[in-house]
Amino acid sequence: MIPYGKHHIDAADINAVVDVLENQFLTQGQMVPQFEQALCDYLNITHCVAVNSGTSALHIACLAAGVGPGDVVWTSPNSFAASANCARYCGADADFVDIDPATRNISVEGLATKLKQAEAAGKLPKAIVVVHFSGMSCDMQSIQALTKPYGIILIEDTAHALGGTYQGRKIGSCHFSDMSILSFHPVKAITTAEGGAVTTADPELAKRLVLFAKHGITRTDIQSPEAHQGEGWYYEQQLLGFNYRMSDLHAALGITQLKKLDQFIVQRQQQAQRYSELLKCLPVILPSVSEQSQSAWHIYVIELKQHCRKTVFNALVDKGIGVNVHYIPIHTHPYYRSLGFNWGDFPHAEQYYKMALTLPLYPSLTEEEQIFVVNSLKEVLN
Ligand SMILES: *Cc1c(COP(=O)(O)O)cnc(C)c1O
Repeated sequence: MIPYGKHHIDAADINAVVDVLENQFLTQGQMVPQFEQALCDYLNITHCVAVNSGTSALHIACLAAGVGPGDVVWTSPNSFAASANCARYCGADADFVDIDPATRNISVEGLATKLKQAEAAGKLPKAIVVVHFSGMSCDMQSIQALTKPYGIILIEDTAHALGGTYQGRKIGSCHFSDMSILSFHPVKAITTAEGGAVTTADPELAKRLVLFAKHGITRTDIQSPEAHQGEGWYYEQQLLGFNYRMSDLHAALGITQLKKLDQFIVQRQQQAQRYSELLKCLPVILPSVSEQSQSAWHIYVIELKQHCRKTVFNALVDKGIGVNVHYIPIHTHPYYRSLGFNWGDFPHAEQYYKMALTLPLYPSLTEEEQIFVVNSLKEVLN
């Protein structure tokens, strides 16, 4: 079976994890700060907080943004559920802005219209989570121009896009946003098994992110230092945080994985180009490319034009090809329907979903395997 995505682990990764097991602290040692610094260096940003998943990263990003009951957070319906769930974890409502069918990312026009309506209704969102679907950046400059006048906190869900660029800068560097979140799940560009991070250029947000990720407890930034002089044991809880820490085992893996990231991206770009070449005569819509953004090619998604997606999907699975579908629109899940959403609410995301098909793409996928995938697809479409 050729999977749709797969991690790549080498001897350096294994040795790094074994070294932690044999010689170092398993948690709260030096590996996590080193990994955070390496991510800061890679992304050219000042603050990074590593946590135990991308979902935790989204949760603390919303908390640091001040999202709470009575607030609304907007995101794209074409994403993994976590992009919206983070609002619900904070007791806020989630809402969606439909996608632009050309980019499959949040529609800038749709956002502009919805902001006008929300302003008129006095229900502007507290934060917006934009998702760089498949690894291609949203139009961040235009989005920030729309949201900044309202003081809306802009969070980038960069789970797909680590290693990609936008206007020449690394996606995740927060040039046009307040925070950006990463995931290191094994199907993502680099892995720590489970893991995630939040990056920000804002020291105040960074402070809050650390607190929310570590029980709300601090030893160093206490409220009345004079009152606790000489109390070496003293720490204090300042808010209700969580234990979302990353372990040093995971961080050690992240450090060695990050060294390979640029090579992984080159391989993914070459594979994407090869797919686009091999597929160009088939009756399918290929992923668009943008002059502003170099995609990290997390996934390669085609859209069928006239064929039945279910038939094509099952025929390829029968041939041992692990195709997938990204994404079932978030608002159509029973949980979100129970909150009042329904089919028909965001028609572009729904239309796209009905025809979408994700082909296998990961660094060790061979040219022969890609040709096999495309030939199998050809056969099924004929
Ligand atoms: C993977 C993913 C997440 C969640 O990351 P985890 O590390 O699995 O919690 C969030 N958003 C998007 C778009 C993702 O693909």
